Amino acid sequence: MTPLRIGVVGAAGRMGSEVVRAVDAADDLQLVAVVDLGDRLTQLVTARAEVIVDFTTPTAVMDTLAMAIPAGLHCVVGTTGFDEGRYAEVRALLGPDPAVGVVIAANFSVGAVLMMRFAAAAAAYFPSVEIVETHHPSKVDAPSGTAAHTAEVIDEVRRRANLPFPPDATVGDAGARGVAVGAVRVHSQRLVGAVARQQVTFAGPGELLTIEHDSRDRACFMPGVLRAVRCVRDLPGLTVGLDSLLD
Ligand code: NAD
Repeated sequence: MTPLRIGVVGAAGRMGSEVVRAVDAADDLQLVAVVDLGDRLTQLVTARAEVIVDFTTPTAVMDTLAMAIPAGLHCVVGTTGFDEGRYAEVRALLGPDPAVGVVIAANFSVGAVLMMRFAAAAAAYFPSVEIVETHHPSKVDAPSGTAAHTAEVIDEVRRRANLPFPPDATVGDAGARGVAVGAVRVHSQRLVGAVARQQVTFAGPGELLTIEHDSRDRACFMPGVLRAVRCVRDLPGLTVGLDSLLD
């Protein structure tokens, strides 16, 4: 079998360098281009990459997509900071009848995706729920995209189940009660040495249920990234999240 030709953008970064190692170690993939700050994106085309992986910054990733999609390169994007406006920009680049596949996932860890599924399954059964997320201090966004998304999923299930807001008598909390994503309070910690950890705690009369996911090493994102790399050519258009690629 001819190996799939891969280019990595943000290749010198924490995630990008992990992707470079993972692609190098996979027999069915061939690393043909590595791009970082100051390099020309067009070298992805010159190197005849078929799939590119981007772990850069919210600004840089849009330049990557604006070059790659019209050039017919399939894209796997782990860079965070996407919202509905940005997804619309990507759909506009893809056009009405896309030939190119783009997978964008804010979390490529299989465990984190399952943590969200388990949290959704529990969400209708408990009056109280809060989330604590812990990341390294270089992270610029808070709460994390994963925590915000988990809270949205839980909130949606609670609303469909007609659950009221969790009981809370706090008055004038001065920020101590975290940020509210719908009915769900999210608390963010930034600790040296941390990678990414999230704890979702549900509580009802006489019981607590805690669902915890701990990313201890960036290697945990690689099975999800490689799965997306191998599927993206068969998924023309925009796919958001790893969830649908797992089944
Ligand atoms: P990092 O700062 O270590 O790496 C980013 C790299 O991108 C750097 O090497 C930088 O030089 C490079 N870069 C910046 N601008 C560029 C440009 N215009 N062209 C080419 N390269 C450019 O950051 P990181 O920790 O690797 O995270 C990168 C992104 O991935 C962030 O958005 C982060 O939130 C996200 N992330 C996603 C997941 C996931 O599972 N989806 C997991 C961890 C981090």
